[in-house]
Amino acid sequence: MNFKELNIIPPILQALAKENYEKPTPIQEQAIPAVLAGRDVFGCAQTGTGKTAAFSVPILQLLHSRPRKQGERRRIRALVLSPTRELAIQIDESMQAYGRFTGLKNVSIVGGVSQKPQEQALERGVDILIATPGRLIDLINQKVVDLRHVEILVLDEADRMLDMGFINDVKKVIAAVPAKRQTLFFSATVPPEISKLANSLLVNPVSVEV
Ligand code: AMP
Repeated sequence: MNFKELNIIPPILQALAKENYEKPTPIQEQAIPAVLAGRDVFGCAQTGTGKTAAFSVPILQLLHSRPRKQGERRRIRALVLSPTRELAIQIDESMQAYGRFTGLKNVSIVGGVSQKPQEQALERGVDILIATPGRLIDLINQKVVDLRHVEILVLDEADRMLDMGFINDVKKVIAAVPAKRQTLFFSATVPPEISKLANSLLVNPVSVEV
C-alpha cells in the first residue's frame, strides 16, 4: 500500500515525497480512508506511530476539495486541540509541511507567548487552527476567534488533556463548534472517562488501533 493507493491527491503526494515518506504507517492506512469518507474516528495510538499525518493528511485533502467561493474569507474549518504547546507547535509544523502545495493556511494558538501575533494571524484568515485549550478559551471569550464554521474537530492525546485538568476547557471549546461536524478522537490509553467522553462526541465512529 502506498499513499497514491489511498487516493491522496497530487499536491499532498508531492509534499509527502518531499518528507521522504514512502508508505503509510499502519494507523495512516486505517485512518486516512475513514476520514476521507467523512467518518468519525476513534484512534488508540501513541506518539511515534505517525498519528499526526493520519489526521492531518486527510483533513488537508478534504478542505482542499471543498474550496472557498471566490472572494470569500478564509474561515476556520478544522480545529485540532492539543494538550501541550510543544505538541501543538509540532502538529502545526507537520500540517504546514504536508499542506505546502495546497494553498491552505494553518496557525497555532498556544499559551505562554504573546497573544497579539496570534490575533493578527487569525485576522489574516486561517483554514486550520491548532490550539491548546486554555489560550483558545481566552480568545473565544474575547471574541477574537470564530469557531462557527468548523467542519472537522480533532482531539489529540485526549487522555493527556484529561490528566492535565482540561476537561472543562475542552467541553467549552466543543460547545463553541457546530454540533454537525466530523470528529476525530485520539488517545494513547482508554480509561473509563475517555470512553465516556469519546462516546459523547463521536457518531458511529471507525475505531483504529495500533
Ligand atoms: P507522530 O506519531 O505523528 O508524532 O510521527 C512520528 C514520526 O514519524 C515523525 O517524525 C513523522 O515525521 C514520521 N512519519 C510519520 N508518517 C510517516 C511515514 N508514512 N513514513 C515515514 N515517516 C513518517
